[in-house]
Order: sequence, then C-alpha cells, then structure tokens
Amino acid sequence: MKADISKIVSRLEEIYQCGAKEDGTHTRMAFSKEDVKARELFTGWAEQLGMSHRMDAAGNLIVRMEGKNPGLPAILMGSHMDTVPDGGRYDGVVGCVGALSVCEAMAEEGYVPNHPIEVIVFTDEEGFRFGKGLLGSSAICGQDPDISDDEPDIYGEARGRVMETYGIRSENVLEAKRDKDSVHCFIELHVEQGATLDKSGTSIGIVSSIAGVNRYEVTVTGEANHAGSTTMEDRRDALVAAAGFINKVPEVTTEYGNHFTVATVGTIKVTPHSVNVIPGTCTFSLEIRDQSNEVMKLIEQKLQESLGDICKKYDVSYTFVPTSFHEPAPMCDWVKAKIEEAVKELGYDYKVIPSGAFHDSLIMTGVFPTAMIFVPSVNGISHNRNEFTREEDIEKGCNVLLETVLKVDEMI
Ligand SMILES: [Zn+2]
Repeated sequence: MKADISKIVSRLEEIYQCGAKEDGTHTRMAFSKEDVKARELFTGWAEQLGMSHRMDAAGNLIVRMEGKNPGLPAILMGSHMDTVPDGGRYDGVVGCVGALSVCEAMAEEGYVPNHPIEVIVFTDEEGFRFGKGLLGSSAICGQDPDISDDEPDIYGEARGRVMETYGIRSENVLEAKRDKDSVHCFIELHVEQGATLDKSGTSIGIVSSIAGVNRYEVTVTGEANHAGSTTMEDRRDALVAAAGFINKVPEVTTEYGNHFTVATVGTIKVTPHSVNVIPGTCTFSLEIRDQSNEVMKLIEQKLQESLGDICKKYDVSYTFVPTSFHEPAPMCDWVKAKIEEAVKELGYDYKVIPSGAFHDSLIMTGVFPTAMIFVPSVNGISHNRNEFTREEDIEKGCNVLLETVLKVDEMI
C-alpha cells in the first residue's frame, strides 16, 4: 500500500489556487472565502472516498472513515490549511492532503482499519488575524482559547462577523472538546520550516519535542540629553548599552545552548526617539526557545549577567521582565517509536529533531498521545511564497504516515 503522489501534488496545487493572486502572492487566512473554498474541495475529496464529514463547534473540519470496531478510539491525523499573508503552499496543507492520501490508499486496497480514522483540518492555526493561533486544537483539548465575538481582527472586523463564514460562535467553541478516551493517538505530518533536514540531505524527521518559548521585555534606562552639547564622556546612552547587549545574544546563546537553542530580539523602541536627543530609554523584546526548561533558564541567567555587566559599563540601569512562558512539549514515546519502526521498514533516512515552531501538535500532546513527522523545507524557507518541499520527500512523508497508521491500528 502506497500514497499516490500524483494525486497529492495535484491536490496541493488545487488548494494553492484557493488564495493565489495574480500579483504572485498567496494568502488563505482563517475564515476567509479562500479558506472556505479550500475546505469545500477537501470535503469533496473525502466524500469521494465514502468518508463522512462534519464541522465541530470550533470550526475544525473533520472527515472520518469508519473502522471494523466502532467502539475503538479514533486514530487522528491532520494539520491546518490557513496560511500567513503571502505564505507558502506546503505549511499545514501537506499534513491535511497527506492524511487524506493515507485514507485513500486504504480505501483503494479495500483495507478496513480496526479503529475509526479521522483527518482534522484545524481552525486558525496561524493566528495572525487575531493575534492568537491554535484555536481549533485548543478547543479540542478543552483549553479555553480566550476569544470573544467582539474582538476585532487586524483589519478591524469583529470576530463574530469573521467566523460567520464557518457558522460558529466564540462562546460555543469549547463544545468541540474531545474525551481523552475517544482518541487512540494523533499524528501530524508537516514541513520542517527549518533547514536541518535539507542541509543534511535527510528526507524524514521524527520530532522529539516542540520547543518551549520564554519571552521577556527588557528596558534599559540611561539619560536623555542634548545630542550636540553632551560629550561622549558624559553620556548615559540607553541605546548604545542595549546594542552592546543585543550583540552578545548570539554569542551567549551559542556558548551555553545547543545546536537548536535560539534567542531573538525582535522588537525595539527608544525614547524620546528624536534625531537630536541621546536615547533615554530603550525597550526591546527577548525570546528564548529550547527543548529543555533548564537550558532556557541557563540562557536567561547568562544573558541577564551579560546585560548587568554592559549596563554597569555604560552607567545605565535595566529591568528584565518575563512576559510569557510556554513549556517545551515532548512528543509521545510510543507514537514516536511506531514512526521510527515505519521509517526503518521503508528504508528511508531519518533524523530525530526538535521543532522550533509551534504546531497544533503542541496543544494536542497535552491531552492525546501525539507525534509529528517532518519533511524537509528546501533552504529552511517557510511562511514565504518561496517555501518548497520536493515531491519525493512529500511522497516519503506520506508513506511513513501510512505505515505508522497501519502499525498503530494493530494495537487493539
Ligand atoms: Zn503549519
């Protein structure tokens, strides 16, 4: 039994067309008419396979193939089909179309699984529209996504209006919560969105865990003063001190972290923000990601020490305020082991790697046995129209997904 790559590729193209514009951009925002169109296509393909479909209270599109034993918990696959603005054609969609190809391979062989099998197209994974993503998976896991029909999206439209395209309402989304016992496991196929697999020429990644993310707001305070009459010696320049620290971030992270530890300063503002005034304050974001809480804590501590030294040198003060913490999310050992068995049997090269990016699996792993299969992103490019994954790698990823599902289906 094998996944049909020609069908997968043509479906990826059809979904891509739901959101492709003449200017070369490609955007399929959650709840948009392009997104609804893509879901209609997906539903049509599932119907052709004799699968049932429904939308839950959080707008997750769920297509289902019945198994021999309706009393058994369902095997779940899936991912998302919404994109960021001017996004790529593979992020999320590969996992949805790939999961459907697994069901198709079974249907064509006349293979009836023991467990029911469901493919979930999650709602609003990307989250750029309302500034919070993973809506569908959060609701399935019973995590309150903290949304209201009144909140505006980045274009000023109220959520209640926006979600009318799906016919769902904020106050009902938690009705999508699923019982832990109703799910055997969840497996998500996804593009890596980093360069580890591509650089090493490896087709398959088995995700060890999804990195945790700790964020901080740092403010350096010096003294605003006249940019003409204050000598270099007399200055207490907040921006110069901050710049010295920001330069240290890569060095400290590399020294105390591992290959996958990352730290980023992504936003910065100075006051009074004037060409002729020495900056009095400089406030910037700092984000640290790693698979281990201990490593994140160590990087935080070393960066704070470095900040303290630099601020002393420039005679300025600082505050270092945590703003959010997300624990690292390990994937389920037994599901990972099944993926590994499948890859080995298929004879493909693989690597066990962490995911630096968030996925619906980050939420799902909190409740259900969950694991992820990665396929390479060429040059590690994603969230970009130039995102590319080779056909042969997608084919291998789908075959690994299929073999894994067959293996977990034997567990009764
Ligand atoms: Zn994604």
